[in-house]
Amino acid sequence: MIAKVEPLTQARALRGPFDYLLGGSMEGVGVGSVLTIPFGNRRMLGVVVEVAEESELPPERLAEPLSALEADVPPELVSLGLWVAQEYVSTPARGLSLVLPPGTGTGVAKPTAARRSLAATLTASGREALGGTTERLGPRQRAALEALAGGPRRVGDLAREGVTDHAGIRRLEARRLVELADTAEAPRRPEVRAVGARGPKAEPTEAQAGVLARIVERMDRPDPGRHLLLHGVTGSGKTEVYMRAVAAAIERGRSAIVLVPEIALTPQTAGRFVDRFGDTVAILHSRLTARERFDEWSRLRRGDARVCVGPRSAIFAPLTDVGLIVVDEEHDSSYKQEGDPRYDARRVAERRAETAGAVLLAGSATPRPESVLRYERLRLHDRVDGRPLPPVEVVGMTGVQDALHAHTRQALDEVRRAGGKAIVLLNRRGWSNFLTCRSCGRVWECPRCDVTLVLHRAAGRVSCHHCGHSERVPGSCPDCASVTLARHGVGTEQLGAELERLMDPLPVFRLDADTVAGEGVGPALERFDSADAGVLVGTQMVAKGHDFPDVTLGVVLDADATLRFPDFRAEERTFALVAQLAGRSGRGSRGGRVVVQALDPDARALRHAALHDAEGFLEGELGRREALGYPPHGHLIRVVCAAREPGPEAEAAAAVCELAGLYGAAALGPAPLFRRKGWERAQLVVKSAQREPAIAAVRRAVEEVSSARAHAGVTFAVDVDPQ
Ligand code: ADP
Ligand code: ZN
Ligand code: ZN
Repeated sequence: MIAKVEPLTQARALRGPFDYLLGGSMEGVGVGSVLTIPFGNRRMLGVVVEVAEESELPPERLAEPLSALEADVPPELVSLGLWVAQEYVSTPARGLSLVLPPGTGTGVAKPTAARRSLAATLTASGREALGGTTERLGPRQRAALEALAGGPRRVGDLAREGVTDHAGIRRLEARRLVELADTAEAPRRPEVRAVGARGPKAEPTEAQAGVLARIVERMDRPDPGRHLLLHGVTGSGKTEVYMRAVAAAIERGRSAIVLVPEIALTPQTAGRFVDRFGDTVAILHSRLTARERFDEWSRLRRGDARVCVGPRSAIFAPLTDVGLIVVDEEHDSSYKQEGDPRYDARRVAERRAETAGAVLLAGSATPRPESVLRYERLRLHDRVDGRPLPPVEVVGMTGVQDALHAHTRQALDEVRRAGGKAIVLLNRRGWSNFLTCRSCGRVWECPRCDVTLVLHRAAGRVSCHHCGHSERVPGSCPDCASVTLARHGVGTEQLGAELERLMDPLPVFRLDADTVAGEGVGPALERFDSADAGVLVGTQMVAKGHDFPDVTLGVVLDADATLRFPDFRAEERTFALVAQLAGRSGRGSRGGRVVVQALDPDARALRHAALHDAEGFLEGELGRREALGYPPHGHLIRVVCAAREPGPEAEAAAAVCELAGLYGAAALGPAPLFRRKGWERAQLVVKSAQREPAIAAVRRAVEEVSSARAHAGVTFAVDVDPQ
């Protein structure tokens, strides 16, 4: 037999897969097996992507794999990884690395091994197979079953005796002829702490029951049909619907994946799933240790856990028989991966659901126009507790010098006097966003990026939010020696200090990337949750799906800041930010209100957000997108070229632009981008109604330009569906 193997290499140029001869000891190797292979004069890890009877090469020219890893990947995930590579203009190795057991990486790191010893037991069908003729058994498979006829054996021992190896036993397990069980150390479960309100398992409301019935009905169809979008206001009980839908999938003997935005930011949702499903749930997130991640992965792979809850990478959970994929807070930008492959977990979820015959259920209070147009919408119009959404006031900041409008101060003061709770959102961390010299006008900028340095007062430093460069706060101007420096703009650090003064004696809790660097988000949320009164101030982290019943005031500062950047998603983001923050307020009996500060209080996104008018906003947004050919009415592909010296990046971008056009994908640009981490950058954007041909054209153009000697030293990043 021949195994076609994709080597796990960083190299872009390599054209796999490569053929390897499967000798006797490699029996049981199949699609999804991870092999150590000789490659040139090195050894490497590789993934079997196909098994064939013969090779085009003569047998004497074929090498044999050296060994097979114990952990392997379900074949359907091999296809998914390769699809991602194709769809996002990456390499097979990088696509496959997404679906591999944690720790396998791209063959650089030593793979993690399970700290356990497996025991194999013959099942009833295994016994039958030994006696009868119903199952086809190879001689080695028969030998393995015979070795188990006398009772359970450790798989490691069978391998040492040469009876079979792990892969062989896995195949028998897949055919349900043997059962595998841990005999040693139980996997370590990561701890997930829930914060905020957590109700007992409640009877679904009529609205929830109606929605649920339609989801479950899909599960029982052979083809679940169109993807579903659960559009429900904040607090309408979406999470409860997800949990019951997951239970329905498990009852049907199927498994489920629940994607949530970054778990560190939203420990609450994951906690609710663990509460409800216990050990049936595996959690995969970035704060796990390598060992925990591997153990959780293995529990999923073995089928001990049937539900995977995790951030975007959980879409590659090694589950089989997936019946349901939930994408919670589907508008969240964390579903897009920033490094190559720049996949969008929401699109990968569509693909996985389609190939697995699973129901895809995306949910949000502020769904993307993409999903509204393409999915079938289920609505939850009201909050579970029947309370209205809080009134939202938008106040104009033109001519106002202070960070806080008089109206906002007054609202905050009411909270202070009542001893209540408020959340204040300002999407900018640090003390001031830039420093200038009062005499010569010098602006402190990052030496490696074309952006200003942000003052962090407590740390005594000015730092770059793009590359991490930081230096001590200057005492004087290096250009003119003046010691009078001006600070401009307000960040969360300064706002927190101001609120401490304003809200005294109420405590102020700050939540931004600076405060969570050490301890994570959980502790800060817990402190705010358990305090009787206080203010939570921070970046957009404070607006994620937290559920605090006693918050009566939400404030958004500089709500239209995003609108001042040229980004076609700016309006969608602004609307979502305000609507999500509003969703944190007024969840308790004391009601609530929201104050939004903006330079332009009449901005469309803000007007609709103030009226809780998602429908009106979406309608306008879809119309605008259609007129401009933006998603979901067109597809965008962005190519960023970067070089160490100014010049080559622009030439390369121009070359890609021209070739892409030649291959049928007209591109806009090239346009310069601001310098980042010392890289000069230029970008071009392809906008096309035809997705696949556009991707193919860009791939071809980039491959040609990147392999041309004239453009050596330029790096290329392709981003399909940029955020
Ligand atoms: P969403 O995800 O839509 O924001 P949640 O699922 O978090 O809403 O529900 C909001 C609150 O209502 C939670 O505290 C939850 O426990 C509670 N809840 C949800 N469904 C019910 C129900 N059927 N009966 C009573 N309480 C419920
Ligand atoms: Zn100066
Ligand atoms: Zn920088």
